[in-house]
Amino acid sequence: MLPVTKVLKFGGKPNDYLSTIRESSTLKNNRKEESFMSTRQCRKCGQTKLLTTQFFNQLSTGNWRWVCKSCMAENSRKHHTKNPEMAAARRERYKARLVAADGAYLPADITRIRKELKDNCYYCDTSLRGAGEVDHKTPLSRGGTNYPENVTLACRECNKDKRDKTAEEFIEWRRKLGRPVAQRPTTSLDPRLVRPRTPR
Ligand SMILES: [Zn+2]
Ligand SMILES: [Zn+2]
Repeated sequence: MLPVTKVLKFGGKPNDYLSTIRESSTLKNNRKEESFMSTRQCRKCGQTKLLTTQFFNQLSTGNWRWVCKSCMAENSRKHHTKNPEMAAARRERYKARLVAADGAYLPADITRIRKELKDNCYYCDTSLRGAGEVDHKTPLSRGGTNYPENVTLACRECNKDKRDKTAEEFIEWRRKLGRPVAQRPTTSLDPRLVRPRTPR
């Protein structure tokens, strides 16, 4: 446990900090980490939270956001309810790309991929616990296909962070930020991953 004086230095109430600790499963699992973990007071809600990816987003520069994740989520929720047509348009664009992309994968492919990954996220190796999200290694928006070779399973966190980066770009991005990267055997890029679409 951090000394209370250290918590007060960051401007948060000790109780906020303690409830943050209780929420954090990472800490429960690894009490040794506590000694070098810092905290940050969110500029929106004023709560002091641990400066980890669980509570704050990190920019590609390595700097952390001043507003906590839950406040950011609240912001975008408000934005989406004000602009529902924008979210709908994005979903439509995605669906159109999904249909237009070459190739197709089957549920059996996902089952096989999950087995190969031992039910872990392709990028960070955390357990998916039977869940996870299908990720296009080369995004559809970058000309990726629906061939099984171009899809993998990722945790929600990685899929969100990856956005329109390719798998290689995302792994590089994680390395730069000092985040864990799963050790996977390097395979030469299958040309079908990025094969240009046949004219229709
Ligand atoms: Zn906040
Ligand atoms: Zn992950």
